[in-house]
Amino acid sequence: MKKVVKFGGSSLANAEQFKKVGSIIRKEEARRYVVPSAPGKRFSGDTKVTDLLYQCYGKAETDEDFEDILREIHSRYQEIIDGLEIELSLDDEFDVIRRNFREKAGADYAASRGEYLNGIIMAEYLGYTFLDAAKYITFKDDGTFDDVTTQEKLSACLEQVEKAVIPGFYGAYKDGRVKTFSRGGSDVTGSIVAKACNADIYENWTDVSGFMVTDPRIVKNPEIIETITYRELRELAYMGASVLHEDAIFPVRKAGIPINIRNTNAPDDRGTMIVANTCYKPKFAITGIAGRKGFTSISIEKDMMNSEIGFGRRVLSAFEKAGIPFEHMPSGIDTMTVFVNQHEFEEHEQMILSEIRRLCEPDLVELETDLALVAVVGRGMKKNKGIAARVFAALAHAGVNIKMIDQGSSEMNIIVGLESRDFEAAVRAIYDVFVNMEL
Ligand code: ASP
Repeated sequence: MKKVVKFGGSSLANAEQFKKVGSIIRKEEARRYVVPSAPGKRFSGDTKVTDLLYQCYGKAETDEDFEDILREIHSRYQEIIDGLEIELSLDDEFDVIRRNFREKAGADYAASRGEYLNGIIMAEYLGYTFLDAAKYITFKDDGTFDDVTTQEKLSACLEQVEKAVIPGFYGAYKDGRVKTFSRGGSDVTGSIVAKACNADIYENWTDVSGFMVTDPRIVKNPEIIETITYRELRELAYMGASVLHEDAIFPVRKAGIPINIRNTNAPDDRGTMIVANTCYKPKFAITGIAGRKGFTSISIEKDMMNSEIGFGRRVLSAFEKAGIPFEHMPSGIDTMTVFVNQHEFEEHEQMILSEIRRLCEPDLVELETDLALVAVVGRGMKKNKGIAARVFAALAHAGVNIKMIDQGSSEMNIIVGLESRDFEAAVRAIYDVFVNMEL
């Protein structure tokens, strides 16, 4: 049995958290490859080390004095080293970092030092081998991740190393320049390492006991999802639910490795399993509810639209020309509506509208802004009757006016469009019907 374990910033914010992580790792021999984040917030209002590093480098870049912030960062690590009572000095490492900051090594290099230094401490604390991610995680010249080269290098290396710490979040171009993933990218590293060593499971340790049915800022203490498929997760994540970095799904999904979201502060909780397929029945008829605000709809009306060949293509080409992706496109007989991101649309509004007028000669174009989309997602929906009816009844009961309905052809989601001001009420109403009333 081989496990890759990734720990987020809050799990490694101070020595006390490090000790919890240490006992989790030591509890199972299989936990052989460890991917740490940089130290996160120790208390609310605290600053993550990654943010301090960006700030510090911002000063270095404009030739301001950055010594104070660098010292603050050093003391964060020193505090951890002292608390763990290990023999380790990062003085030399900080000398190198100072020099590289002065030579303007780049913001990515700067940010990556957060996980790099945490990796050194973690390796020392556990007695594991430290592997610098810059040597293995490789990026192409265009800045995208080089899956083939990385997998080759990393799997060859991991075959030789029994237990190792590989810092998250960064890698390097072929010429050695450090490059990071986007924020939260240690999740991605964990997934890449899991694929490279062909792990049985990728454990992603964080500060919640799993993926929640809906946003805890809207519904207090929502239920935890026990098992979710990659497809369901993707739908929920796209609609705004967050626990994992979006790109973390792809490497393990390809390799069929399940992800287990776990809580460092409640290690006995089973957390959420993210799997390719499962016959495990979801606890509720739906798996999750997510949504986003900030959409605009553009409704286009034209007599006899239904018989005009190429009409839809011409409408969409106006958006394509402006580089705007569309979210949904429900249509009637002589009308069609395109849902787009409000911010993106606002920038190109007049250009798109005149293009639609020119290409399609519509009778009427109507705009509506401040819309929200709510997605109700679940693999169980396919076999269950009456799910849509319950969603709509819940919304009617809550006095929410529905602007659009879209059931994906996978029969795994129902998306409703509504006014942004109704968003929270809609989520709560749907949660009540499918979760609270079932408990
Ligand atoms: N430390 C990085 C961040 O704060 C990456 C990570 O934690 O995954 O975004």
